[in-house]
Amino acid sequence: MNIQRTFSFEFFPPKTSEGVEKLRATRKQLAQFKPEFFSCTFGAGGSTRDRTLETVLEIQGEGLAAAPHLSCVGSTKENIREILNTYKSHGIRHIVALRGDLPSGMAETGEFRYANELVEFIRQETGDWFRIEVAAYPEFHPQAKSAQDDLNAFVRKVQAGASAAITQYFYNADAYFRFVDDCQALGVQIPIVPGIMPITNSTQLARFSDACGAEIPRWIRKRLEGYGDDLDAIRAFGLDVVTDLCDRLLQGGAPGLHFYTLNQAGSTSTIWQRLGL
Ligand code: FAD
Repeated sequence: MNIQRTFSFEFFPPKTSEGVEKLRATRKQLAQFKPEFFSCTFGAGGSTRDRTLETVLEIQGEGLAAAPHLSCVGSTKENIREILNTYKSHGIRHIVALRGDLPSGMAETGEFRYANELVEFIRQETGDWFRIEVAAYPEFHPQAKSAQDDLNAFVRKVQAGASAAITQYFYNADAYFRFVDDCQALGVQIPIVPGIMPITNSTQLARFSDACGAEIPRWIRKRLEGYGDDLDAIRAFGLDVVTDLCDRLLQGGAPGLHFYTLNQAGSTSTIWQRLGL
């Protein structure tokens, strides 16, 4: 079977000139795999607005496809309109549309409550100019009242005009397959691309997972705890686990993979090569 698959790599906008240099090297290494696009995150409340734009323009300037993330929480329609117009004026046609999470203590004064409202606004303002990706949660968003509510919220983003979705990371392939089946039963036809988080550091992974609601299965957690500070052992184990997960997802029909690279090329490159992509 010849399915059209989409592979992409995610970065965050670097804060320092060393970070910018490091990201250039990472990008150079990952560009050889010819991904469909590189995406760049956006700090909620607009905190990385300029750095996200700079990063995306630099990627585009290298002849590579770039998709900025855009989060709406805490923003006004006018803020978002300006950002969309800036991207349009630079010929950017791909965007990842999110609600975002405001840092605790920051008051919510914006005009958007949920990501479906952002998707709707982008379509109203710019028609079909942008390919719009939205977030999906196979293990469900931590604030969702129930699994069914979260599925309904996802369907609303699709109905508002999303072109494709990228999932939160997960280590349980069955959660993904079940989620895709449920979405299809609700009439969703857009591609839902699994988000992949390589495992390189167990403390950082535990921190991220607590915050975003991704489950680290007990057997993975216990093994990571057992490796202690042995980073080589963690990395070797992580590469095995994540390569197997990707393999299973692709074998099961996933329409591509989106790697959360954390601006590092090493693990993503090894997984890619092991998959023989
Ligand atoms: P939504 O789809 O709006 O959902 C948020 C929550 O609200 C869910 O619990 C949902 O069930 C619920 N909900 C939705 N609609 C309703 C409704 N009408 N009534 C009641 N409840 C409702 N964050 C950033 O700040 N910057 C980034 O660049 C970024 N990139 C990301 C990329 C990907 C691929 C993913 C998966 C996440 C990313 N995030 C990013 C994190 C994201 O912003 C958070 O997960 C955020 O908490 C939810 O964003 P969302 O777009 O999924 O929100």
